[in-house]
Amino acid sequence: MNNLRFDNTFIRELPGDSETGSRQRQVHCALFSHVNPTPVAAPRLAAHSAEVATLLGIATESIDTTHFAQVFAGNTSVEGMQPYAANYGGHQFGHWAGQLGDGRAISLGETINAAGERWELQLKGAGQTPYSRSADGRAVLRSSVREFLCSEAMHHLGVPTTRALSLVATGETVVRDMLYDGNPRAEPGAVICRVAPSFIRFGNFELPASRGEVPLLEQLVDFTIRRDFPTLATSDHKGEALYAAWFTEVCERTAEMIAHWMRVGFVHGVMNTDNMSILGLTIDYGPYGWIDDYDPDRTPNTTDAQGRRYAFSRQAEIAYWNLSQLARALSPLFDDHDALHAGLERYIDTYTAADRRNIAAKLGLGECRDSDVKLMADLHRLLHTAEVDMTLFFCGLADVDSTAARLTVLGDVFYDKQKQQDASPAFNDWLARYTARLSTDLLSATERRALMQAANPRYVLRNYLTQQAIERAEQGDDSGIHELLDVLRRPYDDQPGREAYAQRRPDWARNHVGCSMLSCSS
Ligand code: AMP
Ligand code: MG
Repeated sequence: MNNLRFDNTFIRELPGDSETGSRQRQVHCALFSHVNPTPVAAPRLAAHSAEVATLLGIATESIDTTHFAQVFAGNTSVEGMQPYAANYGGHQFGHWAGQLGDGRAISLGETINAAGERWELQLKGAGQTPYSRSADGRAVLRSSVREFLCSEAMHHLGVPTTRALSLVATGETVVRDMLYDGNPRAEPGAVICRVAPSFIRFGNFELPASRGEVPLLEQLVDFTIRRDFPTLATSDHKGEALYAAWFTEVCERTAEMIAHWMRVGFVHGVMNTDNMSILGLTIDYGPYGWIDDYDPDRTPNTTDAQGRRYAFSRQAEIAYWNLSQLARALSPLFDDHDALHAGLERYIDTYTAADRRNIAAKLGLGECRDSDVKLMADLHRLLHTAEVDMTLFFCGLADVDSTAARLTVLGDVFYDKQKQQDASPAFNDWLARYTARLSTDLLSATERRALMQAANPRYVLRNYLTQQAIERAEQGDDSGIHELLDVLRRPYDDQPGREAYAQRRPDWARNHVGCSMLSCSS
């Protein structure tokens, strides 16, 4: 690891807090605070991503060493690391929450790999920072396993995301009241190291804007464009036109990200503006969930069970709302606000186009006609009322052809026998419409299957699978994490012998804590 090369531009080029240490405070006119991780008792590497290690140029031999676990627990550092916590604000559940900041995340620095790519390393659960707001700065094993696995699963699914290098068990416990019902208990703790080109969030811009710190806001925007949007930085755009082009690109990337979530059945669960990456990456895996039986109203987050603000089908609308908050924060930099409105319009256009691409690919059509939008909407309604597994249905649909357009071809995709029976005629009608549509399509049967198989994953990180891996890890057996990580390396492929990972959610998991119900307590 001594070959890691650091170039810490964020803290070098931007203003920081003059006070160091973790005393909790409001930090004005500064975008970060220097703070060191707090060492843990007995770090032990529980899992790592070989792909991310390779990306960073970390040699395989150094991974299983005590030194590696010590570094990625925050107990020791390597040359070039300059730990800091970022200062940002955010809108939480629709309300401005003021200063939030990295309360338990500590960035170690920005590495430059052999290919010249910049990858920031960030520990999560590494101890208190000035932004911990009286919380402990730690993370429990269960939430760390969830973030570690989902980051990598999303990457292999082709969804823009932050990555995860390592999962280190701390040998310490952390007290959490998991369901906020007055039953705190000590749970094993962990630290993950997550990795991304940038961890800048919408909230990084919102905080200085909310305080009228316009020069600081402008400095951050200029820095972000220069470091994280190099193609724009070297384009012909200057001044306000450059800012407009940048905001538009943020809108486009966000739209593409949400369309991917909808394609694979991912519910983020806490789409607060402090959890929205400026690069359009999925970030901050908390009480997220995966759709088993198709339900547009599904939210795994118990804190959101009433309002369902962040339910599956609302994600595109919420991302727009979040982008509007970003636009508002950026408005002091614009004389002409039309540019910001145009960016938001671009979000709608990009999302609409991506949604139509999803429809065509998921149904295996050479193009998405207006009538196909209706075909898909009708299907979604059917999947919902009949309680059908989203992932299995779309995989099975690839096997349907005009000669075998019967429901039985799809296999075991229903959760409720009665609903299956009731919905059978409607499904057969829908399949007849679908096969009629196929007969007018441009694609050959082979092309159609290839398109569908590349868009419809067979293996997703079903909540209950992660929960099983967590329960084993809490007993000291990490192999469930390793197996899941491995299965999810090839989510679109048939993996003979691994059918157990591509089945309906079992009945015990329907209303089980950690499977259908997750809290923000982590
Ligand atoms: P989240 O809901 O995870 O995005 O967190 C919202 C804010 O709370 C962020 O500023 C986090 O850094 C902070 N936070 C969450 N959990 C902790 C914790 N255990 N200790 C300190 N800060 C935390
Ligand atoms: Mg967060």
